[in-house]
Amino acid sequence: MSTTTSPAERGLTALRSANRRRLLDVLRDRGEVSRAELARLTSLSGTTVSSLVAELTDEGRVAEVGRDDRGAGRTGRPGRLVRLVGERSLVVGLDLGPDVVRTAVCDLAGAVLAQRTEAVDVDQDGADALRQTARLVSTVIADAGVDRGRVSRLVAGVPGVVDTSTGHVVSDRMPRWGLIDPRPVLAAATGLPTVLENDADLCALGEHAFGAARGLTDVVHVKASAGIGVGLVLGGQLYRGAHGGAGELGHVQVLEHGDLCVCGNRGCLETTAALGPVLAALRVVHPHVRTADDLAALVAAHDRAAIRAVTDAGTAIGRTVAGLCNVLAPQAVVVGGDLAGTSAHLADAVRDAVERYTKPRTAGRISVLSGELGQGAAVLGAVASAVAAEAAA
Ligand SMILES: [Zn+2]
Repeated sequence: MSTTTSPAERGLTALRSANRRRLLDVLRDRGEVSRAELARLTSLSGTTVSSLVAELTDEGRVAEVGRDDRGAGRTGRPGRLVRLVGERSLVVGLDLGPDVVRTAVCDLAGAVLAQRTEAVDVDQDGADALRQTARLVSTVIADAGVDRGRVSRLVAGVPGVVDTSTGHVVSDRMPRWGLIDPRPVLAAATGLPTVLENDADLCALGEHAFGAARGLTDVVHVKASAGIGVGLVLGGQLYRGAHGGAGELGHVQVLEHGDLCVCGNRGCLETTAALGPVLAALRVVHPHVRTADDLAALVAAHDRAAIRAVTDAGTAIGRTVAGLCNVLAPQAVVVGGDLAGTSAHLADAVRDAVERYTKPRTAGRISVLSGELGQGAAVLGAVASAVAAEAAA
């Protein structure tokens, strides 16, 4: 390779590149930093730091973000804080309950830096649950070893309808939450801008951005867990419905004289095909079955009753989803949630029912897929939600 630069010039260029890397590493670690701190932390001279910051500012990689008043009271003019542009790009995703809270610090590409899961009884007392949740958020940020200033927002999925008019969570499973507006409570307790979304909506966003529905524009995501909800991505956008109430598939009536439902109606899909009723039905044969893991173990052991219970639930869900498919003609139905996590039998039964009960020409163009993200779907949906919000900001 021919070159016109001398060895000395090449040495200076290499040194400057190394200095740039040191400075960028500090900015990534610390978030917002003054030039004086940069000089101290990199052991570079103030002149070199100022020159490199000017160069990076010209390139659009660094920006001034305000005055450094953290040392208020000291003499001298306060310096200006600088930070990397586009790298205030971490988000905390949160998936609340009903009895477990999952949280993770992720970058905007969906890479998880740290995550925690903790049992939280959100039914008992919403305020206590939120305080515990806020502490968990602080812990997971500490686990990730990042400055809180690098986190742009907290997106929290909740197991209820988030009323887009009032911000309140309306959940038949958590009646006390109707009295609490969790968004400002979480924002105040964590110091992070906070957005609430329905958990089934976040699962749909997660699978759409990072999982089974990547690259698709029209997707029905079914979350079959303690309740049954769908998240709708239509025309590439999350569809919430008026006041955030879309997607309550679990409350479609499937049995005229079925059991009473938490919503006050009778015979809703949830009363027969959600995780609780499936486990209850199975206890006739296996009295000690209590959890989704118990069910998964039985299915893995080819237990006939367990497979039948899961398959019957999938058939009921698929028949209801078929009605939705006739109306919306999606490209794909993605089946997720704790019940789906027990085995592929659920998605298989949903697929059979969608094929059987959807108009044939429509059914032939719909793929019924298992979710790829498992229990992390809602948290990754929170990341997808944050990416969309950052893009719009
Ligand atoms: Zn109901």
